[in-house]
Amino acid sequence: MDNVQETKVALVTGASRGIGKACAIALAKAGYKVVVNYNSNDAAAQETIKAIEEAGSEGIAVKANTADLKAVQDMMRTVVKTYGKIDLLVNNAGICKDEFVLMMSADTIDQCLDINIKGYLYCAQAAALKMFSKKKGCIINVSSVSSVFANEGQTVYSSTKGAVNAMTMTMAKELAPRGIRVNAIAPGFIATDMVDQIPEEIQLKNIEKIPFGRYGTPEEVADTVVMLASDACSYITGQVLVIDGGLSL
Ligand code: NAP
Repeated sequence: MDNVQETKVALVTGASRGIGKACAIALAKAGYKVVVNYNSNDAAAQETIKAIEEAGSEGIAVKANTADLKAVQDMMRTVVKTYGKIDLLVNNAGICKDEFVLMMSADTIDQCLDINIKGYLYCAQAAALKMFSKKKGCIINVSSVSSVFANEGQTVYSSTKGAVNAMTMTMAKELAPRGIRVNAIAPGFIATDMVDQIPEEIQLKNIEKIPFGRYGTPEEVADTVVMLASDACSYITGQVLVIDGGLSL
């Protein structure tokens, strides 16, 4: 944990549930004020805020579809109006629609590309513009092990996460001279609503493929995010850190 002198401010997209919620709570415990972005579930977002307060920090919930540029720009204005700055963006809001390549619908392709790629770019650009003047900041993009390890049914999803890895490297190079670090994490199977949608027999087969013999927890991913955001990792940029219990080995 950093010895936070001036309280840092983090924006976590998709923080009403799952990995994003765990990141918001872990960052609150590490001393950050946290902006909780979400798309639809007001009550769930308020639950995250409650957990942030129980962790001894504070936060606000901001409803915004990250695939909507204007909504993202308005959200960033709200962040800066409320807290004066942004130190950390966790680009996490994403969707997964498993469809075999021959069955893929145009809707699935559009939705996944809009949220998982355009949404990440909109948020990263909006955050970097605010970090730029301070010459300091950190962006962590939540990718997936599917970007480096083929899972049947995930042609669209893995394409979007491969794009996240590529944008991470390029942004890292462009923003390093401005003091902004950009990294990605690539979780394997993590026990959230996203994985709950997978039929039970496929889940059992998935677990057999994981050397640790279990799914990861959102908290294990969140701890990695806190570590990557901390000064302990101040010389790390442009990397994709896989957190998958050995699945991709
Ligand atoms: P999840 O449980 O399904 O939660 C998704 C979160 O994203 C919710 O807070 C949801 O908000 C929000 N969201 C979805 N679309 C949004 C949009 N257009 N704008 C703003 N917020 C939006 O997902 P998760 O499992 O925590 O996954 C989080 C990230 O980790 C995703 O990028 C996913 O690809 C990645 N990941 C997950 C796994 C895994 O096994 N779970 C593995 C690798 C990578 P609402 O509640 O308001 O709908």
